[in-house]
This record gives sequence, structure tokens and C-alpha cells, in this order.
Amino acid sequence: MNIEKTRTKAMRLRRKTREGGIAYRALTIIGDRHPWYDWGHRLMILVGEHRTGSFDAPRGRDLWYRFADENEAHGQIITTHDYADVRATDGQDVSWRIFDVQDEGGTVKLGFWGERITHYGLSRRELALFRRWDLWECRARGEWFGLRRWLYFKGLHAAVYLKRPFACNAVPPMGSGGYSHWHCEVRGKHDTHRYRNYTWARAERVRYEEVR
Ligand SMILES: [Zn+2]
Repeated sequence: MNIEKTRTKAMRLRRKTREGGIAYRALTIIGDRHPWYDWGHRLMILVGEHRTGSFDAPRGRDLWYRFADENEAHGQIITTHDYADVRATDGQDVSWRIFDVQDEGGTVKLGFWGERITHYGLSRRELALFRRWDLWECRARGEWFGLRRWLYFKGLHAAVYLKRPFACNAVPPMGSGGYSHWHCEVRGKHDTHRYRNYTWARAERVRYEEVR
């Protein structure tokens, strides 16, 4: 079967699957246009955090929460990962707070919604909520206790420093105007190295060539 047809079919089939689910990821990989040896990109699709069409660094989802009946001391704490739930209470007399993951998972910010962000403390109940969220949402589901992030950044590194198998893979010399992740894609004997549209020869500056 024609590879192009297979890709189109995969992307069409993908619309019927749950966004970010395993079937969705598998079909994305089949439909993917990166070169076959670019396993890094495929690994990122497999383990990345899916958000609106892209696969980012794995991390926990933000947690919105509020107190039922605005009672901070007793009763239910209502939680959601979905901002739509927060918007749904617009106009009602409820106030949401958020554990907001930023910086690719490096920072958690605490905030009130609907006002300026002001400092606030966490009560014991909120600390318990925070610990549970951090353990199950961030560490377990979001990061697979580190494995998921390790895989993702392994893939990212491989994708950036992509090497074509059996190709020359030389990189432009320092100061030639090229980058150290540009690996020459040419196979066999050649005088001029090439990475995508960039070419360079020995003791020459990198040149850009129009698409052939
Ligand atoms: Zn070369």
C-alpha cells in the first residue's frame, strides 16, 4: 500500500479516537512525516504530555479546587483538571484556587482565580490535597516517577541531534555559521556536506540553498 495513503488514512482514523489516548498516539506515529530513523520524535509522541495537538514535556495537570459551600474547614473539596468546569461556574458566588504547574514541571504556583494572584497559605486540608495531587497526578500519572520524563528528553535529544543511518553525519566546523546538531545527510563519497538546505565544504562557511 502507498505510504502516503496509509498516512492520510491514519490521520482520518485518528479523529475517532480519544485525544491523547494510546490509539491516538499510535495513529499519530503512523501519520508522522519525520524520517523513518527519527525515533526521537516518535518517542516524544508516545510519552509526551498531549496538549492541543502537540506533545510536550510530561508533567502533572494543573489542579483546580474549591470548597463546597465556601466552607474551608469542613465538607467536600471539589477538584477538576478541566478549566471548562471553572468557567462553568462564572457568575456564581464560588472561588477557585489552583495548583499551577509551570516551567515544564519545574515550578508549582499557587493562585486564586478571578482576582489578582495574591499570596496565601495552605491549611492542613489543602496540604493533604496538595500531597495527594503531587504524588498521584504529578509523579505517578504525569511523570511515571521520572521514567516518562527521562524517555521524553531522551527522544527530544535524539530528535535534535538526529543522525541519518549510514550517512556521513559530519557537523559544520566551529565558526562556520552552522550548528553542532546539523549532521550531514549525504551517503557515499562527496566533497560538499549537506544538512537539509544547508551545505558546507572543508574550510568554507555554511551556505543556504533554495529547495531543489
Ligand atoms: Zn558529509
